[in-house]
Amino acid sequence: MAAGTTSSPLRFACTCGQVTGHLSDKAVKTGTRVVCFCKDCRAAAIHLGQPDPAPEPVDVLQTSPEGVSFDTGQDLVGMFRFSPDGLMRWYATCCNTPMFNTVRKPQIPFVSVLSNIVDDPDRLGKVRATGFVPQPDGSTKHKNAGAMVWGIATRALASRLSGSWKSTPFFDVETGQPVVTPTVLTKDQRAAATP
Ligand SMILES: [Zn+2]
Ligand SMILES: [Zn+2]
Repeated sequence: MAAGTTSSPLRFACTCGQVTGHLSDKAVKTGTRVVCFCKDCRAAAIHLGQPDPAPEPVDVLQTSPEGVSFDTGQDLVGMFRFSPDGLMRWYATCCNTPMFNTVRKPQIPFVSVLSNIVDDPDRLGKVRATGFVPQPDGSTKHKNAGAMVWGIATRALASRLSGSWKSTPFFDVETGQPVVTPTVLTKDQRAAATP
């Protein structure tokens, strides 16, 4: 089926299949597909014992957490951060599959879903923006960052206005705490994972 012609939820699963769930059709349609070349996205994969994605970027759908639901194995979901304030990187502890990234507060309703965990990545649409593109001089540059910022801002505003930001599977909104205690990597662990 071609992108945009289906309205069923989009299933996701970890590599071993114990953690499963789905993205709502709305989360898929309002999301922004982005690819990222940054060192932290690569390091997250390496830390989990996955192959270094480079030279390919890490492909994600940025969308609203309220559109993410777990069906099985939510108790197997773990989370780590590269620093106490860093992105929350959620993964399946059963098979070390990187799955989601969130920011540290549920009031900022943002999640990026790793595209390779979904059943049909074609449904995520075209790549709208690219982060940290390596340049010939060794620096990096974003491409179409405006599309990314616009998507984040409009989704966040809609969730805040409707109150739907409260239905996140990643946080206890009463306390503002993540549902899993974060592991903050030590400097050595971080160095070991840095490409
Ligand atoms: Zn698994
Ligand atoms: Zn990145």
